[in-house]
Amino acid sequence: MAKLPSYIVGNWKMNGSAADVAVLQAIAQAAEAHPHVDTGICPPATLIAGFAAHAGQVQIGAQDCHAKASGAHTGNLSAAMLQEAGAAYAIVGHSERRADQGETDADVAAKAEALHTAGMGAILCVGETLEERDSGHAIAIVTAQLAASLPASASGDWLSVAYEPVWAIGTGRVPVSDDIAAMHAALRATLVEKLGEAGKGVRILYGGSVNPGNATEILAIPDVGGALVGGASLKAETFVPIIAAAPR
Ligand code: PEP
Repeated sequence: MAKLPSYIVGNWKMNGSAADVAVLQAIAQAAEAHPHVDTGICPPATLIAGFAAHAGQVQIGAQDCHAKASGAHTGNLSAAMLQEAGAAYAIVGHSERRADQGETDADVAAKAEALHTAGMGAILCVGETLEERDSGHAIAIVTAQLAASLPASASGDWLSVAYEPVWAIGTGRVPVSDDIAAMHAALRATLVEKLGEAGKGVRILYGGSVNPGNATEILAIPDVGGALVGGASLKAETFVPIIAAAPR
């Protein structure tokens, strides 16, 4: 199975305005020098359509989608609506949504399946809390979370997994490389156990306080297929060096 390119995706969360298309354009221009990297930005949904027209090779994604195709779900957006606006994929199961909106593993699997049905990609997030890390059972907890969140049709053609320790998100704290390597190896084993051969082709990104200073080391860890980046993706000055750090 051919190795997929590194995948570097920025999650802008609830940040940004239409004027920040200038940031996207700076990222898109710099990304041209790194055609071996799959680069993405997930702005707030209100910016997807405006950004899609200026994205160059940067793939625009959404930060969530509803599992249903249509219906009485006030305030929500379906996969097809996001696709029509210009999103090629969406993040599902981010820990902030699991915590703030009470999303369950089953909800996350249904959202990922809805994206696949619409012909879109998905980045499925999993990760342990600090309490769970300190319990010594992080690997068992996160692999179980992945197994329960994984749609049956998953394959590397449309699905990526992001390992994001909750305690590393926005905190400046990052697990030691050996712990990232051990978690990614365990997630790979779970993917292969659940999906067979298709599980070998799913990229596993690391997310949590990735910045220009630590990106080279993190992206060189075995089976780290890229990074999901929050804070450092909001400015071209901090996001572009992370794209440049991605191995070929
Ligand atoms: C995230 O929220 O997905 C994330 C990785 O954030 P940060 O890079 O800011 O830790």
